Amino acid sequence: MTRDPIPFVSLTPADDAAGVRAAIDRVVARGRFVLGPEVDLFETEFAAAMGASSAVGVGCGTDAIALILRALGIGPGDEVITTPLSAAYTALAVMMTGARPVFADIDPARLTIDPDEMARAIGPRTRAILPVHLYGQAADMASIERLASRHNLAIVEDCCQAHLATAGGRPVGTIGVAGAFSFYPTKNLGALGDGGAVVTNDRALAERIRRLRNGGQTDRCHHQEFGVNSRLDEMQAAILRVRLPLLSAWTLRRRALAAQYRAALAGGPLDVPPELDAGHVYHLFVVRVRTTVRGVRLQPDPREQLRASLTADGVETLIHYPIPIPRQPALAATHPAECPVASRACDEVLSLPLRPGLTDDEVGRVAAAISIACRQREAPRV
Ligand SMILES: *Cc1c(COP(=O)(O)O)cnc(C)c1O
Repeated sequence: MTRDPIPFVSLTPADDAAGVRAAIDRVVARGRFVLGPEVDLFETEFAAAMGASSAVGVGCGTDAIALILRALGIGPGDEVITTPLSAAYTALAVMMTGARPVFADIDPARLTIDPDEMARAIGPRTRAILPVHLYGQAADMASIERLASRHNLAIVEDCCQAHLATAGGRPVGTIGVAGAFSFYPTKNLGALGDGGAVVTNDRALAERIRRLRNGGQTDRCHHQEFGVNSRLDEMQAAILRVRLPLLSAWTLRRRALAAQYRAALAGGPLDVPPELDAGHVYHLFVVRVRTTVRGVRLQPDPREQLRASLTADGVETLIHYPIPIPRQPALAATHPAECPVASRACDEVLSLPLRPGLTDDEVGRVAAAISIACRQREAPRV
């Protein structure tokens, strides 16, 4: 029996292919490629979809984070508290401003920043907290808000994995001062290249970011302040305008697939992190493979064994993330704190394929392959 492989992502336009093609043709025919009508319209449409009053299109999600921090006046000498378990870009964005990222360990169940650890990390130089809505599930925003208001800190939300997610019913990106989104092709709303956006309900902040993304210009050739060149381009904006109306349906499909995985894996050998907020949008479906017993690392590594066995069955998996950000050599100069809970998660997490085009049958195949692989591993050797 031959079985089609189940790739982790599939980025070729599918249900939206005709719309994407038409959008590209429209931009080419118009002959306007940077800061034109598509970006203007996308900003209006994206702000409305995310429940915010303003959106500003930028070059990527990393720039979105860095530009929010810079627009808040955060820079050298300041500290921003963030999570050790994320794409390293979250912390790199802090470093781009000249500020120092300070890591607070994660909550072991939710895998997002632990508000108690965050409280311990606050010091005289702390200016902002940067939670990440990891894998599509919001961080514990109620606790983070309490802490931020007590210490007069800005909350900047990394929403790069959380388009349309809510926290206790409130849209992410509108809970803090601003939210940063990425349209990297694999994200829940992806472009055919890099892209990003800031959303905020603070119109003055939006205007400042609009200026900063465009060289700090107030008018053509008048550079009022030290800005950067980070603009969402017309082609990507036009493509995103085709996809934005499809995002709700894609999100429902992601949730349905996640529910199927949960049912199929229940009672099995893998830990499935709990869904702690119904506003989870399942950018990723992450399970945990126990790799230690009483503190001792199992050999050979059970996660690697499972991955190899799934690969042999045509099921592609990835690890988000294998290394806690504070352990990255690029961060060494910031003297990051050890984060043991995140380190352990990095040893155990495994992301299974989940994308709107995945079929019910494919979820069943992945679950069956996991069950067979784990049974073989546990079978007594005779
Ligand atoms: C993708 C991502 C980023 C970076 O976004 P880019 O558009 O690639 O710059 C930042 N944070 C998180 C959590 C991400 O997933």
